[in-house]
Amino acid sequence: MLKIMMRVLFICTLFIFYFSIATAGDFPTLDELNPNHPVIIVDIDHTIADVSGWKFLFLDYKEVKQLPDASKYLTLLGQQFQIIYLTARHEYLKERTYKWLEYNSFPKAPVLFWNLADFPFWSEDYKTQRIGELKKQFGRILFGVGDKKTDMKAYLSNNLYSFIFNENVEKRPRVEIVKNWQEIYQKVLSLYGH
Ligand SMILES: [Mg+2]
Repeated sequence: MLKIMMRVLFICTLFIFYFSIATAGDFPTLDELNPNHPVIIVDIDHTIADVSGWKFLFLDYKEVKQLPDASKYLTLLGQQFQIIYLTARHEYLKERTYKWLEYNSFPKAPVLFWNLADFPFWSEDYKTQRIGELKKQFGRILFGVGDKKTDMKAYLSNNLYSFIFNENVEKRPRVEIVKNWQEIYQKVLSLYGH
């Protein structure tokens, strides 16, 4: 399994080397954020981008749509929260992901990518670990938005209030199953708004 994964990653590297034409935008790093300001964690695939990570690899980033009004409402949320994008996309997709975020007018915020050398293989373990690390740096990580049951588990195990784009996830306390970004925006305002 691991051997196959490594081969796939190697092929992906070649693919990106030949087809990526990128400049990383001026996205801030974690150290540029305010450690006392509230934070919202946001997944990318099937949460703000209407695509899976694997499909994104093989498409022109300009062809990949955002979920309806995702950038609009995330920009509004960005007025009250610091955003951190936490994705299971591999670092090989870094440049194209920045370009996609920029092209779709998403707020500029740190993007945390996965790599096999430093982090667990499974998405739930990876996200749980990274949010745990972030909590040492940021005292107020309040919300998480994602689409997978594993996102929800990673958020809940770190005591985040969760918004999940997935009707197959069973309802439980501190979890909202959502269909669009307007719902998230309104619920966050009702829980936290000023
Ligand atoms: Mg996702």
